[in-house]
Amino acid sequence: MSSSETKYSTIVVTGASGLVGSAIKELIATEPLDSRFGRKRGERWVFLRSGDGDLKDPAQTDAIFEKYKPVAVIHLAALVGGLFNNMRHNLTFLRDNILINDNVLWSAYKHDTKKVISCLSTCVFPDKVEYPLTEEKIHLGPPHSSNFGYSHAKRMVDVQNRAYKDEFGCNFTSAIPTNVFGRYDNFDLEDSHVIPGLIHKCYLAKKNGTPFVVSGTGKPLRQFIHSLDLARLFIWMLREYDDVEPLILSVGEDEEISIKEVADAIVREVGFTGEYKFDTTKSDGQFRKPASNKKIMSLIGDFKFTPFDEALKDTVKWFTENYDIARTGFESSAAAKGGRAQPKEPEDTPPSSPRASFSAALNGTAQKVL
Ligand code: NAP
Ligand code: GDP
Repeated sequence: MSSSETKYSTIVVTGASGLVGSAIKELIATEPLDSRFGRKRGERWVFLRSGDGDLKDPAQTDAIFEKYKPVAVIHLAALVGGLFNNMRHNLTFLRDNILINDNVLWSAYKHDTKKVISCLSTCVFPDKVEYPLTEEKIHLGPPHSSNFGYSHAKRMVDVQNRAYKDEFGCNFTSAIPTNVFGRYDNFDLEDSHVIPGLIHKCYLAKKNGTPFVVSGTGKPLRQFIHSLDLARLFIWMLREYDDVEPLILSVGEDEEISIKEVADAIVREVGFTGEYKFDTTKSDGQFRKPASNKKIMSLIGDFKFTPFDEALKDTVKWFTENYDIARTGFESSAAAKGGRAQPKEPEDTPPSSPRASFSAALNGTAQKVL
């Protein structure tokens, strides 16, 4: 995107109330104006959540694009879940995500959005393929069976991006993060990813004097990226990356750690001293999916990832301090405290009402543009 196009322009982030979107919102609110990962002068950022419009619905999606006319979109909105949620609902993950992605890309094309970065995941890769995973291997075989619905829907975005470029010359691309964690995650006990799920389970085990039970054998390996690091990489992509080829956003492939190492670190951070065991009747899911970050590292130059232990410490501390308003699956407790935890609104971006209805959001006051 040229600087003249970014001047006085609107950047929309879909799915901004989630883990990754909250991190982007926090960066935009806190990084200095015109800094590497901050807001540029003249940009207005719009952070959307599902209450601002259901992106499964073409009319609601189109109305959002008609209202904001974004020059660029960071498209994060998705039905997202951990291994066990995916295993139970492959069709729902397939349908919802196909609908969301198709509506967003079609509306972006119709409203002449100059750039869209959609978010995929390393589970789009084939289950059986030579490691490490690299960007050109996405379509070389079927994904792991545990989450084939979500994976196929996400993988299709890469096909859509290429078709939009081929037929209409659109600058649509995609990012492929490895497992993400951080503040504002979904800490549901059953439906979340492993780190937030285990933090919540360990917190309750300590509080109630019950055993801490980790699902599976603890042997599978994963690469974890802190949500704020991922947010920085998304902002870099927005500024610097204009290629349809997807980009893996990850720590190095030598930074894989086992689920047992993750659980051990959570036990330490939570300060849990009780009984700790593995429920080997539960699935391990995919054993490993090591991804290479060579391409992003060769393009971005100087970039330091937050060490895992430091990021985990911050996440556990945040969860403990915000238990009543975090996404724990016990939504009534958050509602009673005035709504779920959100980062502060960046200056110059009008607050999005936590419970704003779709029509109220569309009829809202015009936003201030610097
Ligand atoms: P998340 O915390 O579950 O947030 C999902 C976001 O999508 C929320 O803002 C949610 O809005 C919104 N959303 C869901 N359905 C919607 C709909 N029908 N219409 C409009 N908005 C909708 O997810 P996340 O972990 O931040 O994930 C963000 C992106 O990263 C996703 O595309 C995901 O596939 C990808 N990713 C995540 C991970 C991970 O480990 N978390 C790893 C790789 C890739 P409400 O809050 O209002 O419901
Ligand atoms: P995945 O990388 O897409 O498989 O996502 P997850 O974040 O759900 O991680 C799944 C891995 O963590 C599997 O090996 C699970 O057996 C293991 N695991 C252990 N305890 C839990 C838990 O409480 N929740 C989840 N989601 N996974 C767990």
